[in-house]
Amino acid sequence: YGPSVEDSAAARDWLAARGTFGHFIDGDFTDPAETFETRDPATGDLLAHVAQGGPDDVAAAVAAARRAQPGWAALTGHARARFLYALARHVQKRERFLSVLETLDNGKPIREARDIDVPLVARHFYHHAGWAELRDAQFPGHAPLGVCGQIIPWNFPLLMLAWKIAPALAAGNTVVLKPAEYTPLTALAFAEICREIGLPKGVVNIVTGDGATGAALVAAEVDKIAFTGSTEVGRGIATALAGTGRKLTLELGGKSPFVVMEDADLDAAVEGVVDGIWFNQGQVCCAGSRILVAESVAERFEALMRARMARLRVGPPLDKSTDIGAIVDPVQKDRILSICRAATDAGAELVGGEAQEGCFIAPGYLRDIAPANPGMEQEIFGPIATLSTFRTADEAVELANNTRYGLAASVWSESATVATDLAARIKAGVVWINAANLFDAAAPFGGCRESGYGREGGAAGMLDYLAAPAVEAAPETAPT
Ligand code: NAD
Repeated sequence: YGPSVEDSAAARDWLAARGTFGHFIDGDFTDPAETFETRDPATGDLLAHVAQGGPDDVAAAVAAARRAQPGWAALTGHARARFLYALARHVQKRERFLSVLETLDNGKPIREARDIDVPLVARHFYHHAGWAELRDAQFPGHAPLGVCGQIIPWNFPLLMLAWKIAPALAAGNTVVLKPAEYTPLTALAFAEICREIGLPKGVVNIVTGDGATGAALVAAEVDKIAFTGSTEVGRGIATALAGTGRKLTLELGGKSPFVVMEDADLDAAVEGVVDGIWFNQGQVCCAGSRILVAESVAERFEALMRARMARLRVGPPLDKSTDIGAIVDPVQKDRILSICRAATDAGAELVGGEAQEGCFIAPGYLRDIAPANPGMEQEIFGPIATLSTFRTADEAVELANNTRYGLAASVWSESATVATDLAARIKAGVVWINAANLFDAAAPFGGCRESGYGREGGAAGMLDYLAAPAVEAAPETAPT
């Protein structure tokens, strides 16, 4: 099954019926004073006008969240869980509509929106309904933080929303979320779902806008900022919050190693590359973008990879047979191409990776690339990997860790000993063995080094939305 022409019409009708979207504050949509456009990157068509939020909108949303928070926190865990279950069920009920809307706004292949993004969204709310029930038993004495400001990127718009909102609500917080300016639409559809299930007003507020809107949220009277986006912006937010005592979690960029050992199943590893770097046009924070392959099998591996790459279909995102859809925006396309140019200027060879008309780039990889080449150091955030070789396991570890990031890694070997030994030595928040880009709501996700700190998912993710109980004051009798 898959979204049909009618599903696509349903999403377009929904957009046409609304035309212009206000912010979602205190359970209602505002009448926007100023708006910006959001477009379909595959066609350039205008999809909708969306409110551009300023400090006053942010303040109104934070005030609504503040008013709602004591009542939300006072509900029993079971009552909060029922709302989270309802959100999960309503996302499932609308999975076709939401996947089409996501594909229209973001350009990702409908197959991915339908089979990965939207099911993971529902799964995240189901999982966190469980945490709402279990909070007091699992984290005795912990209290919600209060109002959480949440800022998300455009690569997995609805999934990043779920990663932010589900744990915050399960813990008893209320939220003000700012979606990315390229992709605000599924967040607004989600706001309608919140209204439909009767979520108490002010528990979820959505303020749309650009970086300035995000900065206004960082400056507002919130108790926590949860940010997912670029390392550069994350660094600015950490600086802005320094000394305020507000909690901060950062999920930032990456340049994750994809290590293929001599004894790896090469066919499986090539499929891993497809999931690792050509999924979502490579616009994945934990993309396996640095392929490191044992020299003894490098020639065979590259031939297999090249043949597989040639079979990937670049095309219209709504076509169910498309593997590689549109890059989210012309600005991002130019960014990707300029890093590739810098890489080839510095001596690397680009295989594939041709720019096509519109927002499309063919899958590709950079070979003969030196460690200090800009293509090796910078996050390309597009469908272009790097390919280098190593001779020994020690050298593989050294190359894998030769980055300022530490988000994820993927290790391929038929030996459990080799794989787990390597995994333990690679500095990354998540290491996949014989797999890439696997996510589960129960598995904490997050980085180290310049990829940020804090975790999303599972118990660790819940703790990032809770305040630990106050430490016992002084012992009853002073030590002598
Ligand atoms: P970005 O940092 O430009 O934008 C992310 C969000 O921050 C957007 O909503 C944007 O409007 C907002 N923003 C921009 N400037 C701001 C400011 N000064 N203050 C507050 N908010 C501001 O990043 P992007 O281009 O949207 O996303 C790509 C980056 O996100 C990549 O580096 C990628 O690796 C990273 N990312 C990380 C994860 C993760 O979980 N670690 C997931 C997805 C994306």
